[in-house]
Amino acid sequence: MPRSLRLSTFVPPGFHVENAVQDGGVAIITVRPTSKKSGCPSCAVIAERVHSHYLRRLADLPLVGRQVRLVVIARRFRCDVASCRRAIFTERFSADVLAPWARRTARLDCLVHHLGLELGGRPAASFARRLMLPVSNDTLLRAVRRRGCPPFPTPTVIGIDDWAWKRNQRYGTIICDLERRRPIRLLPDREPATAQAWLAAQPQIAIVARDRGGAYSLAATKALPQAIQVADRWHLMENASHAFLDAVRKSMRQIRSAIGAATVDPALLTAAEHIQYEGYLRREDANAAILERAMNGAPIKQIVRETGHSRGLVRRILRGQRSDVFRTRESSLEPHLPWLDAQWAAGLQNGSELWRRLKRQGFRGCLRVVSEWAGRRRRAEKADAGSLRRVPSARTIARLMTTGRDALSKSEAVTIAAVEDGVPLLVDARSIIAAFHAMIRKKDEGELDAWIERAKASLVASLANGIMRDRAAVRAAIIAAWSNGQTEGQITKLKLVKRQMYGRAKLDLLEARLIGAT
Ligand SMILES: [Zn+2]
Repeated sequence: MPRSLRLSTFVPPGFHVENAVQDGGVAIITVRPTSKKSGCPSCAVIAERVHSHYLRRLADLPLVGRQVRLVVIARRFRCDVASCRRAIFTERFSADVLAPWARRTARLDCLVHHLGLELGGRPAASFARRLMLPVSNDTLLRAVRRRGCPPFPTPTVIGIDDWAWKRNQRYGTIICDLERRRPIRLLPDREPATAQAWLAAQPQIAIVARDRGGAYSLAATKALPQAIQVADRWHLMENASHAFLDAVRKSMRQIRSAIGAATVDPALLTAAEHIQYEGYLRREDANAAILERAMNGAPIKQIVRETGHSRGLVRRILRGQRSDVFRTRESSLEPHLPWLDAQWAAGLQNGSELWRRLKRQGFRGCLRVVSEWAGRRRRAEKADAGSLRRVPSARTIARLMTTGRDALSKSEAVTIAAVEDGVPLLVDARSIIAAFHAMIRKKDEGELDAWIERAKASLVASLANGIMRDRAAVRAAIIAAWSNGQTEGQITKLKLVKRQMYGRAKLDLLEARLIGAT
């Protein structure tokens, strides 16, 4: 049922409106507390004897597009408790309505605090003006600082990582409660001693997810010897990919000569058929490797694991269903290819014209067959002239070697086939890295020791050695449910807040804005 709207419903609870006037764009509302008494701040005994009155002027939430100034007719009370050292005190209100000494009502202060948290000082101030909230840049930041960080529940699973105050110059540390998914603390640097001091004060922490740098590992080992340390999965994956890139870099000399060898004979590269042949050779190699393992009595499961081929493929090969997979398609063009090649070399490269001339020679196929042949031929030549002559960068080769074969262009496929052919150690390294990634994805730590042994003798030995030194944490990373992924997410958020503050933020403000907001 609708009721008439009274002015006192606009002011904070516990006050009634004495009068309201308008002064320009500002509504001035005078209010009086409804309570007859107030608690003494020293002895907490309720006092009722009024000593005198005074006015408190406060900013409040805007009202229908106007700024509001609240004038509170407040009282001073006498405290009658003989032992109390305070004879007279100013009236106290509930802290969620009006804090002592405050110049804003609590409900306005809450808004100011959140504006400051979300937008930072300067942007929040200009936004606040539009909202009819008269607060300055400094006031906003003060509100954020004053409220600081809410106390956090004691964490048992934490993630710890570093973040850059200034790239390559100054770093801080962030600590996240992984169970509650929130940041709980920023530390001013990334020194092991600083992290250690903080961790030592939280002996209940059972799991520490950290990156693979030594500092936090050292700090956690000293401060929380009983806690399980978990290396960061994402970093592990990345370390592994990087190790492969390093292996490629180390092999660049061999790669150059392998690719050089592949480009010596251009005739080998122009024909699309040759690419098929390359694929055929590779398949034959794979077939041979699989058959050899089977001859030695290896079960299918083991072959799958060792070669990285799918179970279905291994089974097909063992049944002899993939021995003659040189997929030449029977083509009506076949008898005319020498003539076409000659015309092409002589400069006649127009598909329709070639088709007309072929027809005169008795060719009975349609135009499409010839124009497709010309198209293929043109693409192959372009590939030959362009990308094959240059040796791609190590990064590109690493990427191509780890990309699915289907996603490669023909010229890329030829390049990679040449690399694989010429630098078998790299193929080995690739399969070792793939096995490591698979181990993490499948959370299968049982193969870790065997993997380390295999990798130690390969181009990615340094990765293996690093992992061996940090074996327990890597093992935990493979099986544990926790990872530092969300800490990374919080760092992204932290960077955003930091950027809003134009890099001038102090740690307490940064912490208040990042952690106070969550
Ligand atoms: Zn008192």
